[in-house]
Amino acid sequence: MLLPGEGILIDTPGMRELQLWDTGGALAGAFQDVDALALACRFRDCRHAAEPGCAVLAAVERGDLSESRLGNYRKLRAEQAHASCQQDQRAQIEEKRRWKVLTKAANKRIREKGRS
Ligand SMILES: [Zn+2]
Repeated sequence: MLLPGEGILIDTPGMRELQLWDTGGALAGAFQDVDALALACRFRDCRHAAEPGCAVLAAVERGDLSESRLGNYRKLRAEQAHASCQQDQRAQIEEKRRWKVLTKAANKRIREKGRS
């Protein structure tokens, strides 16, 4: 995260999670066939569970895609969703901490001004 005039706000644990995220992306590349099928789904945010007009489920029904492969795909997606959720939480905590520090600094400046 780049903040104007403040440099980069990424600590080491954040970097570790970014690496995790990259690994997830590489794994997702292994499911290109499913991703390609998903492009034809009626809904963009299709979870390929029971959505009407799901092209992935249709492919499983036709026998073009094995059910176990779809299962693995779902598992991976769930892990990715979990990872991104954790990242969001960390970002929120980071944001709160930043504001606390900024508020403290601002208050200190006001107090010092009042003294002089
Ligand atoms: Zn679908």
